[in-house]
Amino acid sequence: MWNKLQQNITFSYFSELIILFIFLLLIIIVIDYPVSLLIAILTTVSGVVLIIISTQRRRKELAEIKELISGIRSNKFNSPGQIHLSKNLESLENEIKQMVEKTRGDIDYLRRLERMRTEFIANVSHELRTPIFTIQGFIETLLNGAIDDKEVSLNFLEKANQHTINLSSLVNDLIDISMIESGEMRMSFRYFRINDMLAAISKDMISLAHEKGVELNYTPVRENLQILGDKNRLRQVLVNLISNAIKYTEKGKVDIIVEEEPKNVIIKIKDTGIGIAENDKDRIFERFYRVDKARSKAAGGTGLGLSIVKHIIEAHSSKIEVKSEVNEGSEFTFRLKK
Ligand code: ADP
Repeated sequence: MWNKLQQNITFSYFSELIILFIFLLLIIIVIDYPVSLLIAILTTVSGVVLIIISTQRRRKELAEIKELISGIRSNKFNSPGQIHLSKNLESLENEIKQMVEKTRGDIDYLRRLERMRTEFIANVSHELRTPIFTIQGFIETLLNGAIDDKEVSLNFLEKANQHTINLSSLVNDLIDISMIESGEMRMSFRYFRINDMLAAISKDMISLAHEKGVELNYTPVRENLQILGDKNRLRQVLVNLISNAIKYTEKGKVDIIVEEEPKNVIIKIKDTGIGIAENDKDRIFERFYRVDKARSKAAGGTGLGLSIVKHIIEAHSSKIEVKSEVNEGSEFTFRLKK
């Protein structure tokens, strides 16, 4: 390719040569001999010299570009700053630097994605293996004779049942995560009454709170207050945040608070629970991140809930924020359009 380009440079002056030739003819016709001959000779010589100089310069530039490209191809440059071309190729140098920078960014992004994917698969396998092995253990113990003891077998079956419930919520969360990440989770935005939804959710969850001795408070907002969003997905968000608030609160209360702004509605789920340390606050939205793994698992947590919540809220062009103090409680807040 480079040889062809160099040949092209030589032939690219063909049109200039024709113009020079016509110019010479005109001189010979218009001006008298021998002045015309002298001018013609001078013009021809200077024209040819100029063409030779210019061809050589182009060839040099081409060789420089060729060397640079093969350098990029063989990863000779550690950073775009090491890329240099001569002064008259400055703009090309900048273009190449930008291109190299972008390609590097793309490669880093793909590597990060690949690492995340591998980590995700490792986490999923680990999360699935634990309940499956536990259930298998219970069944084996039953088959090995424990089945004859009614009390023991009932206990084992209840535990195995709890693990199947956990397993099924894990699989449901995994389906949601994969739908969100593959872009298959379509949102269906409609106006709906937020009061109806919150009243229903708090009614459903009040027994869960009371079982733990935690108060669950919701002060109804005006009946006709409507918000714009995907009703089912927002229900999932609220159930998740409220059940977390109950799960991570030993004593005290969980408040569901709704505040109105001119164009938005602010929803807050506030608890007086164990709280979240400063350096865990951002990480709790990562897939499978749990502050206290054993506690989350014992409460049937999958470690995926907040990551799903974050995705859903972001799909509503909003963001979820958390304020928290260890041993004081946490407050999760997000805004929705009304
Ligand atoms: P999990 O299924 O473990 O609850 P989530 O994604 O819902 O998973 O939450 C991630 C982690 O964030 C939890 O394991 C817990 O450590 C922490 N967390 C979430 N909500 C609260 C809360 N209201 N109070 C204290 N910690 C919380």
